[in-house]
Amino acid sequence: MRVAIPALLLLTVSTSCGRGPDLVVHQTAVVVDTTAPFAHHPDFARRLESTMSAALAYWGGDWKALAHRTITFQDEQFVTCGGMGTALGCFDGDIRLTTRDPSIGTFRCVEATVLVHEIGHAVIGDRDHRDPRWMDFDRVAQELAGRIGYPDGSAPCELYPSVWRHLPGG
Ligand SMILES: [Zn+2]
Repeated sequence: MRVAIPALLLLTVSTSCGRGPDLVVHQTAVVVDTTAPFAHHPDFARRLESTMSAALAYWGGDWKALAHRTITFQDEQFVTCGGMGTALGCFDGDIRLTTRDPSIGTFRCVEATVLVHEIGHAVIGDRDHRDPRWMDFDRVAQELAGRIGYPDGSAPCELYPSVWRHLPGG
């Protein structure tokens, strides 16, 4: 049975100066600054919304934790985060994510990015990763597993929860 998502608001914004969001999910602006095929597939908004929803449930948060924030997907291998230049994702009030993995290359789906990790920071803060859930992620990985991957949709999207995990401290 297909489940409709009535709260999902898609909005294409064109602005004459500067760049607006490519879409809005609930009250979160999303910027697609990547060539990764998954971000340009028609199912992107739906899968992004369900991944955000699963991550919020895992961390015990709700959509208010992400309201008025921006999520940016980018091609660059690493995003700068604080003084660190080698992060796969960053939460500094907004979320920035690379769409590439250093070893496997371009992620095949939004679920495989470190979005689930960064939403954790939006919900609980915990910059030092003291919460035991930073070393788990099994439940949310199971929920998101088995979806189709791109560019060609011929194989499931592999998830790597080990990439989402973070040892306590720093
Ligand atoms: Zn973190």
